[in-house]
Amino acid sequence: MSIDINHFITTLAREVEKYQVPVVDLIAVQTRDPFKVLVATILSARTKDETTAKAASRLFKKVTDLDSLASLDEATIAKLIYPVGFYKNKAKYLKKLPAALDRFGSRIPETVEELVTLPGVGRKTANLVVAVAFNRPAICVDTHVHRIMNIWGYVETKSPLETEMNLRRKLPEKYWIKINSILVAFGQATCKPVRPHCDRCVIEKYCPKIGVTPRKLPSAKKKTKKNGVNKFISWNVNGLRAIEKKGFVDIMHELDAEAVCLQEIKAMPEQLPKSLAHIKGYKAYWHPAKRKGYAGVCTYTKKEPLNVIYGMDIVEHDQEGRVLTLEFDSYFLVNAYFPNAQPGLVRLDYKLAFNRDIHNFVDRLAAQKTVVICGDFNVAHKPIDLANPKQNEKNPGYSLPERQWMDTFITAGYIDTFRKFNQEPEQYTWWSYRFNARAKNIGWRIDYFCVDPASETRIKNAGILDNILGSDHCPVSLDFV
Ligand code: SF4
Repeated sequence: MSIDINHFITTLAREVEKYQVPVVDLIAVQTRDPFKVLVATILSARTKDETTAKAASRLFKKVTDLDSLASLDEATIAKLIYPVGFYKNKAKYLKKLPAALDRFGSRIPETVEELVTLPGVGRKTANLVVAVAFNRPAICVDTHVHRIMNIWGYVETKSPLETEMNLRRKLPEKYWIKINSILVAFGQATCKPVRPHCDRCVIEKYCPKIGVTPRKLPSAKKKTKKNGVNKFISWNVNGLRAIEKKGFVDIMHELDAEAVCLQEIKAMPEQLPKSLAHIKGYKAYWHPAKRKGYAGVCTYTKKEPLNVIYGMDIVEHDQEGRVLTLEFDSYFLVNAYFPNAQPGLVRLDYKLAFNRDIHNFVDRLAAQKTVVICGDFNVAHKPIDLANPKQNEKNPGYSLPERQWMDTFITAGYIDTFRKFNQEPEQYTWWSYRFNARAKNIGWRIDYFCVDPASETRIKNAGILDNILGSDHCPVSLDFV
């Protein structure tokens, strides 16, 4: 079966417009500076895009050109670019770069042959710099391009170099520059190296899938419990109808969680399409706000609850659709959308009243049995929980009274389950839609799973699923027995 390469590439070019672009293209768009593209490309080898973006941003605050790079010692460069893969070697290469460029008159060379003579620059990097920085025909073959071209049977090769040489012979030149960014974005999001998403692939019908084991969607009946562990998900979807168009139902099946708590659904149940109102294998419970298109929470659950508590019996909060509690045999699952204090902190008093009331509410539940409370708490607790703590000390979500409330809640013994397992910085759950914040990982951790103090032994793991797109928040998870 031979493929129509024109159809494949034009279809995927349209498809990946919805995805985040690879970081090197992003830097090229932002700077158009071959020096920065070269440096970012060196950093990007064997490193995740988010890590490269953060390291490049730290480095470019100090380094704007060859002179400023030359003025830094190797240890400082290493510190700035940590934790990119092989950061010590990359620091060495970058330190040597200004001297190595002397013979090119301190300009970045424009050919692959010249670029590969520079320290730390292999053929892949050189092709990428030629294509991205100089917009000249070059085929950068990274692992995604090599892998996917072989899956399509467009080449039959053993190494990226062999793939590059084959593509130079047969791929129409008009695709050379963009093929890398298209297939990197596509390979990261859909045609993944392990269990690719053929189920949602736009070229599935025509793809020969050579050597591929496609991902199987779990059937709704499949049990999620492994050794008695329940997986719970919490996600501020920022509009349930909007996220439905971004593959929400597929994501639900793929997550295969016991219960999924959503916040900011911005819809009444009767406004929802069937695909959302009835997701196979789940029962849904809704607590929308009275005001249309505002706030609201809902919980999808595989297991029928014993009881459902809508709100907290406080009209002021309940009319905003902020709290929904499902009671099961041995625990309560509380889905909460905490208010935003709003610019100028104009709703701070209301938010603090809500915080006090929900704390009392979960204390009352915890006196009966285990409480799991999850949702968008709309507060970053500690400096580690946001990218720019100093600048945000007086802003909603990080103002002192909001942090003090979170201190009180945690001091009372409620466990921030994510921090029980992970003390790393730069772990966020929300990013502004502005300034490419998600691509640069300028974010906040404001979504939580907390568990009452007496139930710590039931917590098995907690995570942030920041690879799942569709909202300005990503989902967070809890494994719980
Ligand atoms: S059908 Fe599957 S293997 Fe083929 S390109 Fe799509 S995701 Fe990759």
